[in-house]
Amino acid sequence: MSTTRLYDIREDDRFHDECGVFGVHRNGGAAALTALGLHALQHRGQEAAGIVSCNGGTFHAERHMGLVSDNFTSADVIQRLKGDCAIGHNRYSTTGEPALHNVQPLFAETAVGGFAVAHNGNITNARKLRSSLRETGSIFQSTSDTEVLLHLLATSPKSSMIERFVDAVRQIEGAFALVALTRSMLIGCRDALGIRPLVIGDFEGSFILTSETCALDIIGARYVRDVEPGEMVIITESGIESLRPFPDTASRFCLFEYVYFARPDSAVGGLDVYDVRKAIGAELAREAPAPADVVIPVPDSGTPAAIGYAEGSALPFDLGIIRNHYVGRTFIEPTDQIRHMGVKLKHNANRAVIAGKRVVLVDDSIVRGTTSLKIVQMVREAGATEVHMRIASPPTRDSCFYGVNTPEKSKLIASRMDLDALSRYIRVDSLAFISIDGLYRAAGEQSRDPAKPQYCDACFTGEYPTTLTDRAAVKPAPQLSFLEPSH
Ligand code: AMP
Repeated sequence: MSTTRLYDIREDDRFHDECGVFGVHRNGGAAALTALGLHALQHRGQEAAGIVSCNGGTFHAERHMGLVSDNFTSADVIQRLKGDCAIGHNRYSTTGEPALHNVQPLFAETAVGGFAVAHNGNITNARKLRSSLRETGSIFQSTSDTEVLLHLLATSPKSSMIERFVDAVRQIEGAFALVALTRSMLIGCRDALGIRPLVIGDFEGSFILTSETCALDIIGARYVRDVEPGEMVIITESGIESLRPFPDTASRFCLFEYVYFARPDSAVGGLDVYDVRKAIGAELAREAPAPADVVIPVPDSGTPAAIGYAEGSALPFDLGIIRNHYVGRTFIEPTDQIRHMGVKLKHNANRAVIAGKRVVLVDDSIVRGTTSLKIVQMVREAGATEVHMRIASPPTRDSCFYGVNTPEKSKLIASRMDLDALSRYIRVDSLAFISIDGLYRAAGEQSRDPAKPQYCDACFTGEYPTTLTDRAAVKPAPQLSFLEPSH
């Protein structure tokens, strides 16, 4: 492990993870089902994927950099990863150079047996926990925040696996949707606020746990219910047992899952993502009408909101930008230079529907501003006479510390520019973002309750629903950083 990588992480001052998780209990094709589930969740992380299976007490693990389809779709996956239980994980991280030792599921052989875990979210007190665990002799194999869980479980004074796991999750803060595998149990757990999604499915009598319902659909599994915020489910031969390890609190599901992160064909947090996105578009049309001839989505993530906007404003909808599907998500590229190229590689204007028209462009969010800048230029070059931009989320002004990869605050363009400056920068005739209340309405609420917000909206409001222990420690005193240079 190079010192450079350690410094990279330190400079970045936090972990970045975007992840999808999947688990299956007691099905002969466990590894193949997991590979399919991860394939459906590929949008949640494209850097690496891993599967751990369990075959009557023996664990098998494979972790690879790259896409699920590059590594796990050959027919022999069941031979390589034997067993009738498996968990899997997709990951995107930017912790320096690609690092296989960080690829999940993580596995440890503990005094109470083998334990594998896959995590979607971010543990916001991982550095603090890690440094106290190291002081008492824990040796870490990765730089992943999730590894603290294994050490907390391995060193817990409790006697059973479940008691130890409960003990471990009670010590972690932040966002976590976890699936874990022992020799006899598949376990799922969501943090008390339920920031990240986790659902239960049924495939031919076998229980499935996964981030989104699209991973159930791909294998033809039936949606049973969500794992509740703050709930731990334990799946054994005898069925599902439910525990409540945390004090009761109101849930704060992530609004950005609806805006961008989850797939539009999934239902998360009890709502269909597609419906919410269309409703956002309709709200936006009410809040910010535009004098235009045609509504054009920035594909693919802006499409459902653009449909809602077109319906809400009674304007025609057309595909004025065509996306090349063989290029990954623009945002998920490591350097600014590649990210700039990525936008050109990914989108092309469809002149036939743009030339001579006043266009409303609808996109889901503006993060760094790179996409909007390029797209607006492209649409103007294709002959649009006016370009009005409508954004299906409020300005992204703060970083996410809960498992959605966002740049640090200074790189978020809306944290540096007001609406006028931003519309001049991306060169639009008008620019509007949906209001936070409008977004809440689209997500089924009357408005945002300022005293008790119903969702996690920290990236739009800067109000973080949990303590950010590591951040508080690192910012004023960088010497307390989680990773010191190696001695
Ligand atoms: P930007 O060029 O940085 O403004 O990118 C904004 C676009 O990136 C949005 O329109 C989304 O489609 C996409 N996006 C927003 N947030 C994320 C994220 N956390 N991960 C990947 N892509 C994102």
